[in-house]
Amino acid sequence: MFRKHTESIQAGPGGGSDAKPVGTVFIGLAGPTGTTGLRQFNPYDRETFKQATANQALEMLCRVLLGRTSSMSSQKHPITMAAVVAQLCPQCALCCNGVLFKDVELQPGDSAARLKTLGLPVSEKRVAKFPQPCAALEGCSCRVYADRPTRCRDFECASLKSVAVGKTGVAGALRVIRDAQKRAEKVRRLLRAPGD
Ligand code: SF4
Ligand code: SF4
Repeated sequence: MFRKHTESIQAGPGGGSDAKPVGTVFIGLAGPTGTTGLRQFNPYDRETFKQATANQALEMLCRVLLGRTSSMSSQKHPITMAAVVAQLCPQCALCCNGVLFKDVELQPGDSAARLKTLGLPVSEKRVAKFPQPCAALEGCSCRVYADRPTRCRDFECASLKSVAVGKTGVAGALRVIRDAQKRAEKVRRLLRAPGD
């Protein structure tokens, strides 16, 4: 039996600090094989905050049940894929900002109508999809996180996988991400340069 405990630390709109800005939430999971936890940052309105946090807690539970965690154990510093996502993705966004992909194709079960109401320019000509850079990207945060489509929910880049299995450290993965961001910006500058 698993026990899931979700504690919102700073749901806002007021309060918050440098250490725990508004939107910070900690999610914990305890079961027969040990305990694990992660810190998330959901800087959304109250309703979206609740939806996103509930989804992250369920996603964490699903990953553990499906065996997609590197350490649901009593290790001193357990790290789940959800925890890796929380540490890398809010500083990256390379899979949402047009650097890695040019669009996101919808999958069975995704609602084009729902995504359109959320402001995503879904085209339904041959294959239902929306372009990147994604209209839902705000800084490095997904504005529609609770409603993001299947491709976005399922995608795990090489860096996430490498950190989750302990091949790469978080700091090393962040260095690779920053380097990729700098290179992407250099290409953007070159493309904007007069005469190009
Ligand atoms: S490229 Fe990887 S680390 Fe970056 S936001 Fe996407 S999944 Fe996260
Ligand atoms: S919907 Fe969210 S997760 Fe998917 S590409 Fe857009 S910003 Fe990224």
